[in-house]
Amino acid sequence: MKFSTIIARAVLALSLACASTFVAVAPAQAAAPMQHKQVPGFYRTMIGDYEVTALYDGGGSINSNLLHGDPALIQSLLARSFQDDHVSATVQGFLVNTGSKLVLIDTGAGGHWGPPTLGKLVQNLKASGYKPEQIDLVLLTHLHGDHAGGIYENGKRVFPNATVMMKKADADFWLSKEIMAQAPEDAKIFFKIAQDGAAPYLAAGQWKPFEGMDEIVPGIAPYAIPGHTPGHTGYMISSKGQSLLVWGDVAHVGAVQMPHPEVSIVFDSDSESAVKTREALLVKLAADKTMIAAAHMPFPGLGRIRKADTGVGYDWVPATFVDLR
Ligand SMILES: [Zn+2]
Repeated sequence: MKFSTIIARAVLALSLACASTFVAVAPAQAAAPMQHKQVPGFYRTMIGDYEVTALYDGGGSINSNLLHGDPALIQSLLARSFQDDHVSATVQGFLVNTGSKLVLIDTGAGGHWGPPTLGKLVQNLKASGYKPEQIDLVLLTHLHGDHAGGIYENGKRVFPNATVMMKKADADFWLSKEIMAQAPEDAKIFFKIAQDGAAPYLAAGQWKPFEGMDEIVPGIAPYAIPGHTPGHTGYMISSKGQSLLVWGDVAHVGAVQMPHPEVSIVFDSDSESAVKTREALLVKLAADKTMIAAAHMPFPGLGRIRKADTGVGYDWVPATFVDLR
């Protein structure tokens, strides 16, 4: 090595040392104000050729006393997951771009139900690169306010070019003025949101309840998940041998209902049937290793089910963050 090279290296080493010293002793900058902003609420994955985008509507908490089960067991399961009586919960919908159709499955609360922290789905849809006018089809798992509330605002359609579809049994139930009149006062809001949301689409001829379980568009088929509401329905998305089940409200509190699927929640119309459905579905999904898109598992609500090592119940295994190729 030439002498000049050795000198040059020594000078470089010295300058680097000085630079790091300078950084270490540099005077403090003015305190940076905290930003208090989260990243946009969308997360994207591919199912075969179909692009699926989870859209965050917002978060809140579910009081553990809404769960029906052994209180001591519920408390111990929550503690094991570092949760207290106010269990963190998120709400999300799922946008599917099949390449020829843009399909939104569930629409969030639209600010009509739940805490004011909900109602952000459209803002996140826009952040994800799409516009509400581009949606061809809205599929609803059921007509509860946190799934269907996002379809309308000020009496108007949020998705003006979309046909809105759901199982007929759900539309018949929640749109019935007679059933609403007999419902308890605190349940009337669910009926009101469904009826207010349906009105502008009914007027435009874009409200289309379905019966049967045939494919709605290529690669998207209804999937019977009865119990939570009269017509509660999932949607199976299939492309190129891969599949994803959008399961609506099969579970609300994963920390409790994955290990103990027999625990139900007050929002279930028919808790016995909801429990039976959940128990059978978890057996199947753990065996099939099918990817799940869940409205209330922690955002983005994508994951799989596996049998728990404890031998009791199941674990939710969240999807890992990956970039798209
Ligand atoms: Zn829900």
